[in-house]
Amino acid sequence: MSTGPFVLGLDLDGVCADYTDGFRRFVAAERGVSPDTLPDPVDWDWTLCGWGISSREEYLDLHARAVEAGLFRDLDPLPGVSAALWRLSEAGVRIRVITHRLIVSGGHGAAASDTVTWLERHRIPFWDLCFVAAKPEVGADLYVDDSPTNLAAFSAAGLAALVFDQPYNRHVTGPRVADWAAAADAVLAHREATETARTR
Ligand SMILES: [Mg+2]
Repeated sequence: MSTGPFVLGLDLDGVCADYTDGFRRFVAAERGVSPDTLPDPVDWDWTLCGWGISSREEYLDLHARAVEAGLFRDLDPLPGVSAALWRLSEAGVRIRVITHRLIVSGGHGAAASDTVTWLERHRIPFWDLCFVAAKPEVGADLYVDDSPTNLAAFSAAGLAALVFDQPYNRHVTGPRVADWAAAADAVLAHREATETARTR
């Protein structure tokens, strides 16, 4: 078992950054409609979210074009994320950003550089930045994620994870946090419980 610093595996979209709203603005502009006409997705599958996206391919095409247009530079941070992560960092938690943002081929330059720009602009502290699909392969003592697929993968691998509450993940079981104040409390409580178990 690791005896180094406690590592938090931190997802970005839907956890630190408001992907839904940024993508909504892009899709609305593409279609010439008001963003208000595109409801909050209640399913991880974009073809079921009421935005008129008919296939996975159509979603990936829209996503790729949004990324090219600077999506990852322009997303809003979720409320309180910077202050909560600084609180954790100052408490000795090592923040390892783990994101699957290189989901589509092409556009990797924009995705990677806009991600770094965004992290710095919004004062998100981090030690490591990992662009990877298979998140459980990146070591961490605790993960925070919103994706039902990733959360299932952590669970299947026996890894501890917090569910960052979103309308599309309400069916996922496991410890759930609704905002960043609660997430920071939960991370510190988990670290304390882990360290108590280690010293037994
Ligand atoms: Mg996510």
